[in-house]
This record gives sequence, structure tokens and C-alpha cells, in this order.
Amino acid sequence: MGKIGAFLEQKRSVPTEREPLERIKDYNEFKIPMSEEDIKLQASRCMDCGIPFCHSGVLLGGMAAGCPIHNLVPEFNDLIYRGAWEDAYKRLIATNNFPEFTGRVCPAPCEGSCTEGLNWESVTIKNNEYSIIEKAFLSGFVKKKVIKRTGKRVAVIGSGPSGLACADTLNGLGHEVSVFERADRVGGLLMYGIPNMKLDKNIVMRRINLMQEEGVKFFTNKEVGVDPSARDLLNEFDSVVLCCGATRPRDLKVDGRDLSGVYFAVDFLKANTKSLLDKDNSSLISAKDKSVVIIGGGDTGTDCVATSIRHGCRDVIQIEILPEPPKSRSQSNPWPEWPKVLKVDYGQEERIALFGTDPRIYLTTVTSFEPAEDKVSLGWVNTVKVKWDRDEKGNFIPRHVAGSEERLRADIVLIAMGFLGPEESIIRELSIEQDQRSNVKAQFGKFRTNVEKVFAAGDMRRGQSLVVWAIAEGRGVAKSVNEYLMTK
Ligand SMILES: Cc1cc2nc3c(=O)[nH]c(=O)nc-3n(C[C@H](O)[C@H](O)[C@H](O)COP(=O)(O)OP(=O)(O)OC[C@H]3O[C@@H](n4cnc5c(N)ncnc54)[C@H](O)[C@@H]3O)c2cc1C
Ligand code: SF4
Repeated sequence: MGKIGAFLEQKRSVPTEREPLERIKDYNEFKIPMSEEDIKLQASRCMDCGIPFCHSGVLLGGMAAGCPIHNLVPEFNDLIYRGAWEDAYKRLIATNNFPEFTGRVCPAPCEGSCTEGLNWESVTIKNNEYSIIEKAFLSGFVKKKVIKRTGKRVAVIGSGPSGLACADTLNGLGHEVSVFERADRVGGLLMYGIPNMKLDKNIVMRRINLMQEEGVKFFTNKEVGVDPSARDLLNEFDSVVLCCGATRPRDLKVDGRDLSGVYFAVDFLKANTKSLLDKDNSSLISAKDKSVVIIGGGDTGTDCVATSIRHGCRDVIQIEILPEPPKSRSQSNPWPEWPKVLKVDYGQEERIALFGTDPRIYLTTVTSFEPAEDKVSLGWVNTVKVKWDRDEKGNFIPRHVAGSEERLRADIVLIAMGFLGPEESIIRELSIEQDQRSNVKAQFGKFRTNVEKVFAAGDMRRGQSLVVWAIAEGRGVAKSVNEYLMTK
């Protein structure tokens, strides 16, 4: 374990960040890495407690508590404390293919279930993970794997974190892996969803380049189902893994939806990253000098707030239909469950620094969009307050509060209301069964679909989720495919 009793004398401390008004001038990451000495002190706080929940990854209260990939947290904390960085790295990659992604973007359910968080301050697990992998890359601990080939060939469709984790694991086991991606760049939402400020795209490419060196083949601008067909891949490869994500965004079908200026959040974010990488603004959806209304108070909405501010918007607000979460855990949300508490994330911090207040307006929904004077572009968003009530079947539903209507100035609306499930062209082509939520039907742990040779993982199987779950699914499906290939 770390240092006995260190958690009693050493306070939790996380990396400092560049000041909001400074960092909004660029799209660079804004966390300032901690010194090695400070990271060791933080790792020393880990007690290696009798029953650690931090790596349990179980569902409690409908949310993951502990790490879904079961990172060996107490072990790597102890190794950091002792300065054994290379061993810490080996412990970390035993469970996680891509700690550089989770160390940056994971919401860290591990920290929500850390025993020290029960009545004190949890260990800085996520930053310790980040520090190990960055030190490993800098110190040359990350080496190209030497791989003995099996002669089996696998096609992975989709290159998000689930497809990448699957490809990396199968390649390490000796199978020849080809990844097909319809976008012009590899990475899925790591590349074209999560903004640069949270995950620099050079970090994504550092991993892709390594995977390429190790033998994984990537084919971009290849939309499976169009060219090549899914059936072609099925004929050509020993196994096919579907990792196409949950890419159908939830829409808001109210009057005025067709006005120009109403976009899906992912389209806005993708266009922004692409214009930065291509150094070409021709496809950018610009928020410069505009009033931006974001519908959805979640993390994607936050990414849109931060991106709009960097464009130089006139103002930006975020509309959320749910009530404001409590500032600390409610009695119905005890440790070690994921804490459902109010979070002031980077985008909100920046809005507060720039305009004085938090952008989020709670218990509010949109009733219609209204045109500007030209009749074709957006001018206004009409909203109403809601009150959550039960219907005759006992389900919670939002009821409009009479007299609470408002009209908000808006040049751009970004719909960040989540995703409905996977697109269906490959599913239909191969006659793959779907579950009640329209995801691909394949049991967790087995990941096999109803079609011989075809497996599924990630958001396409699980529904909209997190990077860490996508990695967990990618690793799991690889294990299942390997068993199938080696026993067939
Ligand atoms: C804006 C945004 C921000 C997010 N931020 C975070 C965060 O900070 N932390 C976090 O943990 N999670 C975050 N998430 C969620 C996380 O990104 C996803 O859960 C995760 O990426 C899912 O991984 P995946 O591999 O299943 O799918 P995806 O990442 O969606 O990748 C699927 C890939 O399949 C490709 N594809 C689809 N159809 C085809 C086809 N027919 N042929 C070829 N390729 C195809 C797509 O182009 C895409 O590249 C965010 C999501 C969004 C939308
Ligand atoms: S992957 Fe996420 S949940 Fe797991 S240890 Fe890292 S930060 Fe915690």
C-alpha cells in the first residue's frame, strides 16, 4: 500500500488548470501536469483498503460504481508511491489498452467509490493513471509489441474506442486485424466528438500510429454497407466485429425545426475539429458573434458551450429539462454509487468567467423555434418551464407550467439530447437481431450476435455510454472472438 496514514496528513490535490479567460483563446488542453513528487504524495494516500470498490465496475443504482475495466488501482498507486513507474505502467496496461484516453476524459466512477471518499476526499485515481501513461511514453516504456501470428483474419467495423480496443487486443493475440472507418480519420468520437481541449488529437494519433506499426491495418473513407458491403467482409474474413457506435442523435421535432441555424451538437463539434485539423474553415459551423442556445445540460452540451465561447459567440446558454442536481449526495444516492451531484465543468467555468453566470437553465423545455425577419433562418427559441409529475401509469413526465413561457434570442441552436441507437444499414443487410432499445442484440461477456461469425461491442451494443465502457466492451469482444477463432 501507499504510506500508512498518509491520507490523514496529505490533502487531495488535482492538477491546476490554465485560467478560463486565458484558455478560451485556443483549443489546447488546459490541465497543467503535476510534478512527479506531488503525484507520489497523492498516490501515497491510497490505503489499499480491505475491500476496495474503486476497481469493482458493478452497476449500483443504474450507474457504474468503480472502474468498468477493473484497473488495478491500489496496486498502481503503491507502485507510483515507490517510484516504480515502469511496473506501474505494466499494471495499468494489464487492464486498459488506452490509459491516455481515460486518464483525460473518463468521469472516474472509481473516485466516486473510493473508500476515502466515504467521509473524506477520494484518491486522485484518474490523474495518477494519466501520469503513469504519460511518463511511460516519455520514458520509452511503451514499446512496439512482438507478435506471433495465427493466420486468422478479423474485420472490425468502426474505429471508436471499442473498435480500437478490440483491434489492439486481437492484434496482440496474433490475429491479422483490418479496421474499416467511414470517416476520413480514425478514432470515432475520440477524434470527431470530444473536443481538442479535453483530448488533443495528437494523443489519439500517437496511439493509432503505434497500432499501425504493430500491424493493425486502418482503412478510412470506407462505409461498410455501401463500399464494401458487410456481406463481402463476412466472406473475406474469419470474423467480423461491429463497433459502429450509437450514431442516431435524438431530435427535437417542434415547429421551426427546419430553420437554418438548428444543428445537432455532434455535427457542430465534428465540423470544428475537422476545420482545426484540416486548417480549413470552409465546413465550420461558426458561432462567432452569435447567440447560441444549447438544448441539453449534459457533457456534450458542455463541449458545445466551450467550443462556442472559443468561436467568440455573443452569448451561450444551456437548456436542461431536469432539475438542478444537489450539491452533495442525497440520501438515496449513497457511497459507493456514482455521485449524482452538481458539477461545474470546464465549459460552465468559462461561461461564468466570461459572462458572469452559469449557462444552465433547469426545468425548462423548448416548445418551438421562430424565424428571424428573413423567414428562413432561426431568430428565436420559445421555452416553457416544466414540473415533473406522475402520469396515470406512475411514470414521471414533464408537465408545462402555464404562464412560464419565454422567448430567447438565438442565431444557432445545438441539439445535445443524446442518441437513440445505431444506424441500421449493416444490421438490415446481415439480418442482425436488435434489442428493445434498437441496439444490436448480443449478450455482455459473449458479444455474439445471432449471425455466425458476427460480434458486436461498444455503444452499438450497449447504447450511448462512456469511453471506458467502450474499451471494456472492445477488450471483452476480442476475448470472445479469440475463443471462437481458436476453437473453430
Ligand atoms: C460530443 C461527445 C463527447 C463525449 N465526451 C465523452 C467524455 O468526455 N468521456 C467519456 O467517457 N465519454 C464521452 N462521450 C461518449 C463516448 O465518446 C462514447 O461512448 C464512445 O466513443 C463510444 O465508442 P464506440 O467505439 O462504441 O463508438 P464511436 O466512438 O461512436 O465510434 C463508432 C465509429 O464507427 C464508425 N462507423 C459507423 N458506421 C460505420 C460504417 N457503416 N462503416 C464504417 N464505419 C462506421 C463511425 O464513423 C465512428 O467512427 C462523448 C460523446 C459525445 C457525442
Ligand atoms: S478508467 Fe476511469 S474508472 Fe477506471 S481507473 Fe481510470 S479514471 Fe477510474
